[in-house]
Amino acid sequence: MNLIIFGAPGSGKGTQSDNLSKDFSLIKISTGDLLRNEIDKRSELGKKIKDTIDKGSLVSDIIINNLIQDILSEKKNINRLIFDGYPRTLNQAKSLELLLNKFNQKINCVISLSVEKDIIIKRIIGRQICSKCGLTFNEFFYPSNNKNHDCDLKFLVKRTDDQESTIMTRYDTYLKQSLPIINFYKEKNLLHEINGSGKIASIYKEIYAIISALKG
Ligand code: ADP
Repeated sequence: MNLIIFGAPGSGKGTQSDNLSKDFSLIKISTGDLLRNEIDKRSELGKKIKDTIDKGSLVSDIIINNLIQDILSEKKNINRLIFDGYPRTLNQAKSLELLLNKFNQKINCVISLSVEKDIIIKRIIGRQICSKCGLTFNEFFYPSNNKNHDCDLKFLVKRTDDQESTIMTRYDTYLKQSLPIINFYKEKNLLHEINGSGKIASIYKEIYAIISALKG
């Protein structure tokens, strides 16, 4: 099966898709992570991508569609993908349909996480990422400790786009460019809307039940 986890920046897409990828043996495709990998290469393309991300804007559909096309064409990925942060524009959603058709696949379910704006802002401001193992924590809601994290605290870093000034732009970009996707998937009867404001474990329980029912 192929899944999409949709939601605003900071809605918990990454955390919940990590859980799903473990429990259902799916491969998580985070376009944000793929773009940050390109930035780490310090290529010309990476520099352009960094400028766009740090401004709070979206990277061009062409760049994103090329990344996704490469992933869908790989045999090991067939029918086991979980998309986190993609599609993010109506254009990307339509391109994904075409690509999936081309590779004889489909989306089985779209989980949309809705979270109020104030919580989102706090989640993003408090977000910390371990530069060693890649796990995500939050200094207000889910601090790193010796029960949930093996690495030293010195490895915790903030993302350069998680600045207070950029968050509002990212949220506006989400409202204008990403939110219309909800109707696209609603019309295809694939959408499950979930309240993403509560505790990570209870939100996951709801998601788990939906995905288990799909499998059965
Ligand atoms: P978040 O959802 O918390 O903002 P991501 O890691 O998913 O975090 O994305 C970070 C940034 O990467 C976005 O603000 C955007 O600039 C860029 N990005 C990620 N995915 C896409 C996409 N599908 N299309 C365009 N830009 C994207």
